[in-house]
Amino acid sequence: MIPIAAELDNLTKPAPLREDEYLGEDGLIYCSKCRTARQKRIAFAGKMIEPQCMCACQTAAYEQQEQERKHREFLDRVEKNRSVGLTDPVLRKHTFENDLGYNPKQMGMAKQFVRHWDEFKKDSMGLLLWGPVGTGKSFIAGCIANALLDQGVPVMMTNFARLLNKLTDMYAGDRNAYIDSFNSFPLLIIDDLGVERNSEFAREQVFSVIDSRYRSQLPLIVTTNLTPEQMRNPDDLARARIYDRVLERCTPIRVDSQNIRKRNKMDNLKKSKRLLGDT
Ligand SMILES: [Zn+2]
Repeated sequence: MIPIAAELDNLTKPAPLREDEYLGEDGLIYCSKCRTARQKRIAFAGKMIEPQCMCACQTAAYEQQEQERKHREFLDRVEKNRSVGLTDPVLRKHTFENDLGYNPKQMGMAKQFVRHWDEFKKDSMGLLLWGPVGTGKSFIAGCIANALLDQGVPVMMTNFARLLNKLTDMYAGDRNAYIDSFNSFPLLIIDDLGVERNSEFAREQVFSVIDSRYRSQLPLIVTTNLTPEQMRNPDDLARARIYDRVLERCTPIRVDSQNIRKRNKMDNLKKSKRLLGDT
């Protein structure tokens, strides 16, 4: 017997009924739970055959499993993106849920940025979070990073101290490829622009990173202790070239709540005193 005929014979053979099945009036097998067919009758190679199929409740269960599998895959991808993009573990705690309300207006804007992410991306527009040290700029940027990561958007958040360390150890030829690799992230966040060491090498690399981002037309978020005024009037041409690009594509948001680090320190001191019984 040729294989296809054997296969056909198998398909036409009546299958034994299972516990949750019954034989319908049309001679096909039905599910006793949902009362839809688990068999269909079709013409194939000049013969009527009755292959098995999934009933309605089997189909629903299968679809649910598929959905759960896809959701698990999505969550795995999100966690992978997070471990690649937020190399500093502290950043993972920077979420809108963990916000203590020091910068309500700015946090509202950060949420709007996430909500309208597609438009910001399309227009290649990012943010410039500026203000004194310790006011929560990095926290706000981290909240945006985590919220977009949760939505499946790959985000890289880093700073120039870290980048310059890495770039210093590289061969010149590898540097450009490394810098361009950031463009695989729809959002790049550079924390603390302007505090990097003031060497020619540093300035050159900072320019390369900002310029590569600028040319890729992908959004960039920058945090800095500099004011937009200082960025508009830097003391050298190299910095002017860097800041020009940032100011063109990053909407400035002033972050100036009272010094959070100082407040945390005071809270900790108060707590220590309380623990020591010195109230
Ligand atoms: Zn069923």
